[in-house]
Amino acid sequence: MNLMYKSTRSEDGLVTASQAILQGLAADGGLFVPTELPKLSLSMEQLSKMTYQETAYEVMKRFLTDFTEEELKDCIRRAYDEKFDTEEIAPLVKADGAYYLELFHGATIAFKDMALSILPHLMTTAVKKNNSREEIVILTATSGDTGKAALAGFADVSGTKIIVFYPKHGVSPIQEKQMVTQRGDNTFVIGIEGNFDDAQTGVKRMFGSAELKERLLRKGFRFSSANSINIGRLVPQVVYYVYAYAKLLGEGELTAGELMNVVVPTGNFGNILAAYYAKHMGVPIGKLICASNENKVLYDFLSTGCYDRNREFILTNSPSMDILISSNLERLIYHIADDQASVTVELMERLKNEGRYTITEGMRAKLSDFRGGTANQKETGEAIARLYEKTGYVLDTHTAVASYVYEQYRRQTGDTTKTVIASTASPFKFARSVMEAVDAGSGALSDMELIDRLSETANVPVPEAVEELRTAPIRHDRVCETEAMQAEVERILGL
Ligand SMILES: *Cc1c(COP(=O)(O)O)cnc(C)c1O
Repeated sequence: MNLMYKSTRSEDGLVTASQAILQGLAADGGLFVPTELPKLSLSMEQLSKMTYQETAYEVMKRFLTDFTEEELKDCIRRAYDEKFDTEEIAPLVKADGAYYLELFHGATIAFKDMALSILPHLMTTAVKKNNSREEIVILTATSGDTGKAALAGFADVSGTKIIVFYPKHGVSPIQEKQMVTQRGDNTFVIGIEGNFDDAQTGVKRMFGSAELKERLLRKGFRFSSANSINIGRLVPQVVYYVYAYAKLLGEGELTAGELMNVVVPTGNFGNILAAYYAKHMGVPIGKLICASNENKVLYDFLSTGCYDRNREFILTNSPSMDILISSNLERLIYHIADDQASVTVELMERLKNEGRYTITEGMRAKLSDFRGGTANQKETGEAIARLYEKTGYVLDTHTAVASYVYEQYRRQTGDTTKTVIASTASPFKFARSVMEAVDAGSGALSDMELIDRLSETANVPVPEAVEELRTAPIRHDRVCETEAMQAEVERILGL
């Protein structure tokens, strides 16, 4: 049976999985969702004996039903290979009673590699399947990590170009260096004088412009998105929650059917939505704990039912979660409104016009598995120091937000359910903030000296992705105003 996809904002217009991946965003501005959430076809016991790649196939084939077995296995083989520095792909590390699911062993040492290493292959396969002739132009707004992971994934993939916009003053120095040194003749990186939401809004506007689309087509291009709004980003993320449960079961840390909680440091709501999908597939997940930094729009939403972006935007030491419009939340809204597009349309209109919306009590009742928590910057640092002093294990700032929220949750509720914490970045990616927390004397060191000090402190070798930054030449140096984003795209594509 073919699982079809539709927009969160309309009742008609069914498309296949490969078409949804190609289009990225639906024509009406909605996000593609499956018409029903599929179930796993194997038991957790069977899955517990599988490799990451085998698990990926079992999970993804349930969502991407128009891909053949050969096509999907080929995409998986190309994605989850030696680009990852461990065969396990996503290892679990037990520290102080929780299981840290390390999602940062790919090319750019952050969790977005988990999906962005496979997305280019899903896309180029989707192009072939749909007899499309246009060149794909990936247009991406990034708060730091997506950009580099997308660039690394798409660099020199034939039939594609990738253009990345990032907030010039809103990413870490290492993140910026990673992006501006990107190789590949089809890669373009531009800083904007604005924050991530400005970048995201600018990109969304270009995606929504029928006039621009028409001009692109005439030149033989079509836009697609590598942002987490693309269903081809979301589906690969479901895999590691299934894998984590299966591994813990296989190792006897969980017994069959025992519940597992997950804590996810959240910004755009993609990663935690993937955990929600995993739960619907049949993984015995208990609570879905959403961890926010000071931009706690999701925490407030979960505690009041009101989503309100009318607030100050705060730059924090977990910059990849500095987000006030959590795009993927639209999918959850759609699901808890019993798949009624009219409800999503109304709420998203409110969000656009007034910057806020409130869901009904009935919808709120469907969020009972979710919990929210927050950590401010000081608490984030404390969480890093606490775990380091207790166990020697060093967290990055994003994971530390989740770690803090988990401790708080455990204290407040007494819930001792086994818990997996999504570990979304290597501490080497945010070395300065991390070292500030564990080694007060390191403040005067240069970025690269800090990396070496962190390596000694954590007793972990410097990842290759960071090592190569020492000598990589800068290849991208353009900066533009938010209003000039489209002009930059037109220049690059020669429109
Ligand atoms: C993107 C990112 C997040 C937030 O993930 P979402 O899917 O946007 O909620 C958290 N941590 C890191 C390191 C990230 O790069």
